[in-house]
Amino acid sequence: MNVQEIKKRLISGNNNYIGDKENLSSNASLRNELTGGQSPFAIVLSCADSRVVPEMIFDCNIGELFVVRVAGNIANSSSIASIEYAVAHLNCKMILVLGHESCGAVTAAVKGGDNGPNLNHLCGHISAAVKMGEGKELSDVIKINAANNAKSMVENSEILKNAVNNSGLVIESGYYNLGSGKVDF
Ligand SMILES: [Zn+2]
Repeated sequence: MNVQEIKKRLISGNNNYIGDKENLSSNASLRNELTGGQSPFAIVLSCADSRVVPEMIFDCNIGELFVVRVAGNIANSSSIASIEYAVAHLNCKMILVLGHESCGAVTAAVKGGDNGPNLNHLCGHISAAVKMGEGKELSDVIKINAANNAKSMVENSEILKNAVNNSGLVIESGYYNLGSGKVDF
């Protein structure tokens, strides 16, 4: 699949999900087929929020999406390393950073304060969006944060930079609406 086809597939899968017309059919034969290897068609960096499940949102089976989930969909060393694997070894050509409505991690970053070392680290990856989104709606900060992390993962990875410049890797950000199920690209 080229990048245009990948995006088309994500949009059509999302439309199935929105219309409650999913084709999900993971079963024993598919599991067995996939024991030999994986070739997911896209990478999604999304939040850990239980309402934001990329495989369901895009109507995908096992083996179709390489999903990295961390609160606030942040591009830190661990999430970037996971994504690098899918780019370098599985030849994925598209990364989608998926923010979502009412994100608790972004809300915590906006509130600020000392939240202990772990959450402070996480909020540190969101702070640029908080600054850029000052005075704006939470949904705007969430969108800025997804775009920022899409950008910063390239800045912090030689593998991704190289793939963008030389092998047509495309990185986009999106926003997931909890109620409608729709992804705005
Ligand atoms: Zn979230």
